[in-house]
Formats: sequence, C-alpha cells, structure tokens
Amino acid sequence: MVEDKVFAGCVKALKEGEELSREQWRVLLEGRTRERQDWLAREASAVRDRVYGKRVFIRGLIEFTNYCKNNCYYCGIRRGNSCVKRFRLTEEEIFSCCRMGYDLGFRTFVLQGGEDLYFTVDRLEKLVRGIKEEFPQCALTLSVGEMGREDYRRLREAGADRYLLRHETANRKHYARLHPPELSLGHRMECLMSLKELGFQTGAGFMVGSPGQTAENLIDDLLFLAEFQPEMVGIGPFIPHKDTPFGDKAEGDVRLTLYLLSLVRLLLPYVLLPATTALGTAANRGREAGICAGANVVMPNLSPKRARENYQLYDNKLFTGKEAAEGLEALKESLGALGYLVAVDRGDYCKSIESFKS
Ligand code: SAH
Repeated sequence: MVEDKVFAGCVKALKEGEELSREQWRVLLEGRTRERQDWLAREASAVRDRVYGKRVFIRGLIEFTNYCKNNCYYCGIRRGNSCVKRFRLTEEEIFSCCRMGYDLGFRTFVLQGGEDLYFTVDRLEKLVRGIKEEFPQCALTLSVGEMGREDYRRLREAGADRYLLRHETANRKHYARLHPPELSLGHRMECLMSLKELGFQTGAGFMVGSPGQTAENLIDDLLFLAEFQPEMVGIGPFIPHKDTPFGDKAEGDVRLTLYLLSLVRLLLPYVLLPATTALGTAANRGREAGICAGANVVMPNLSPKRARENYQLYDNKLFTGKEAAEGLEALKESLGALGYLVAVDRGDYCKSIESFKS
C-alpha cells in the first residue's frame, strides 16, 4: 500500500513541473484508490480551468477513408479484415462535411483515415489547400498515419496546422505485440519528431488496456509524453473488434483511462486533451467523465452516414448520438450542466495564457 505522504509527494512534484522518475510514476499508478483518483480529477480540472477557462473545444471529425494498407492487430479497419465494407469519400463529400461543420460552428476539422494508397500526397495536398482556401479561419488537423518527412513537409506547407499520430505504446516489445513486423516503434517515433520539427501542433497518445499492456508500459508512455511534450494527447480505452486478432481480448479499464487523463493534464497543463469517442463508447457518459477528469476537447463526427457506419475501429463505436455533429445541442447541454461552455474558436494550443500561474 502506497502511503498517503509518499503519494502526495509525487502529486506535488508533478504539479510543480518536476521531472518524475520511473519510481515516482509507479507510485502514482500503483497508489491509485477511488479517493485519490477523485482528488486528482479535481486537481486536473482546476489546472485545465486555469489555463483554458471553463471551455471545451470541439473538433469536427471527418472519417474520409477506411481503406488501409496496414494490419494493426487491434484495429477494425486493418487490411486483413475482409468483412469491412470499404469506402472513401469524394472530394466533394469532404467539402460538404466541412461546410456543414462550419455552419454548425466548428472551426477545426480533423481529417482521419486509414493509410489509403489512393490518397497520395499530391491528392492530400490539393485537399488541404482547397479546405484552407475555403475556410482560412479554420484549423485543419490530419490523422492519416505514417509518411516520410518530405510528405509531411508538403502537407504543412499546404496549410495543415495539426497532426494526430498516436504513438500507441512507447515500449518496443509491446509495440511488436500490437503490430505486424513491418511496423516499428522507431519509425513511429521518427514520424512524430518530423511532425514536431515541421511546426505541426502534434498529437501523440495510446490506448489503455491494449493486450499485453503492463503498468511498466504505461510508465514508458508517461515518460515519453514528458519528454516529447506533445501539444495534444489522445487516450482511450482499448475496445476489441470481433473481426481482428484481438477480438476476444478484454476491454480497457475506463477508470484507469480517466486517471491517466488526469495525470496527463497535470503533467502537461496546456495540452489539448480529448475525451475520446472510445471513452464515450466504453462507458455511459464517458466523455462527460473525461471532461471532469481534465480533458478539454471533444470530437463530434461530421462524416456522412455511410462513412460512420463503416469506420468501425472497434465494436459498437458510437455514431448516432451526442458524439455526432447533429447531436451538438445535446452535447452542449450535457457539458453545460457540468459548468462548461462549448468554445467556438479554433482552440489552438497556447502556452502563453496569462491567467495561468502554477
Ligand atoms: N491511420 C491513422 C488513424 C488511426 S485510427 C493512424 O495510424 O494514426 C485512430 C486511433 O484509433 C488509433 O491511433 C488507435 O489508437 C485507435 N484505435 C484503433 N483501434 C482501436 C480499438 N480497437 N480500440 C480503441 N482504439 C482503437
């Protein structure tokens, strides 16, 4: 049993921005109790409120292709899943998603997809330019997997502002447990480095409870985040998809996910931290719980119905309720009841907010 004094010492060090050792992270993970978790959620919420105010940022998620050349063991749209009905949106459909989103009040669009060979850099570049031309006041986020540095450079040049590429796990062995041999942690990390150097607001992140994950692996993830200092961090529970090699594995723990959100908020006070769709899928009011644990972003779905139905990364992925863009009013209400306002600006990563004094 971790003593109160020891636990509190580690929380204090974390809050004061000290670099935590492996041992200190272990204390925080192993010392988790219900009371301590609730306490950290309040602390994390207070930090988030000081930095960004009582505001939650919204991003319009456009899942534009479920073709993928990769074969990640956890993912429902992996190449090897022959049950998937594949789709890709046309350029026109993507633009109409943005227009609908813009009218609903979205000022950030996130284009996410599998690694689809049809969407070459030339095509993506053209898409990015087109969207930034029509919506110059909006931020554009890409989440289309691994590419070479030169390709990322061209997309940045074309106007993309942010890039989400979860590292998935910072432990080499665990990475190999989740991915086929042609994918490596080394390359994933190289991609993240390039993105950051090119000036993207960069998002890393990982699943909680993915098969084979240990507490030591989570410590690796936290140490990596502390070192990499991403502008965004995506964390959600692993949820099995029946037509993948992990179809019979257990779902990740929702409470542990919430706890990690709180730790990450304390570690990176300015981070843009989504309450993810996976969190909303794994638990009733999961996204609201994420906000209460320190998250400050939600990503409602702007994709057309046929895309949503077929972009099934995991079983039972939400696609009709408050996570959908049409559900924005309901989302505003449920966040409003918690005391949060849905922000209408781009919600860029911001490290110079004056109100923040630690
Ligand atoms: N091709 C892009 C987008 C991947 S999908 C890329 O490689 O970055 C976005 C995220 O969904 C992944 O990074 C992964 O962490 C998450 N995901 C995939 N399958 C999942 C599952 N079964 N349960 C929970 N999250 C999953």
